[in-house]
Amino acid sequence: MLNIVLFGPPGAGKGTQSEKVIAKYALTHLSTGDIFRENIANGTDLGKKVKEYTENGLLVPDSVTIDMLKSAMDGHKGAKGFIFDGFPRTVGQAEALDNMLAASGSKISTVVALDVNEGELKKRIEERKKVSNRADDEESKVLKRIDEYFSKTVHVLPYYEKQGKLHKVNGIGNIDQIFTSITDVIDAAK
Ligand code: AMP
Repeated sequence: MLNIVLFGPPGAGKGTQSEKVIAKYALTHLSTGDIFRENIANGTDLGKKVKEYTENGLLVPDSVTIDMLKSAMDGHKGAKGFIFDGFPRTVGQAEALDNMLAASGSKISTVVALDVNEGELKKRIEERKKVSNRADDEESKVLKRIDEYFSKTVHVLPYYEKQGKLHKVNGIGNIDQIFTSITDVIDAAK
């Protein structure tokens, strides 16, 4: 099984690049942000529970996020592999993911971390705001999300570095060039 974590701050291009990775490697896409947004749109109990957090750019508590991811994985038993997009965002989530995969005799193959500086991120999210209808693309919420990333989520990087799985890819530049750097990392892990 090929299991990839695509890691990066909000606005780093995770959505764009994961679409290309899925098309090339036939992986199942698990984006916790997308699943939360779907649940909010459909007014489910989970949606009601997480709305406040997501719309304010705050991380949803680990217990809720991990349970949700576990059922999403259980719903794709026949998957050839997964691309985790926006998960894990805390060390607790990273540990839970390792345990869940180990329970089915699997593991994370590699971690691609898109590297984009804070100034560029803010510029990109400003642009995205013009075309997206995400409630959390408003300026103060964006700043909060970037802040959550640099205060909490970056700690996941050393977790994977210790496992020898972390690969940083420059996330600034041409989309196809960035994709080539990502596929080089994935192909080396296959
Ligand atoms: P994203 O689309 O990945 O930027 O996620 C949108 C929002 O969903 C985030 O700002 C968080 O509120 C929530 N979220 C998504 N993934 C996670 C996660 N792994 N842990 C906690 N909260 C998350």
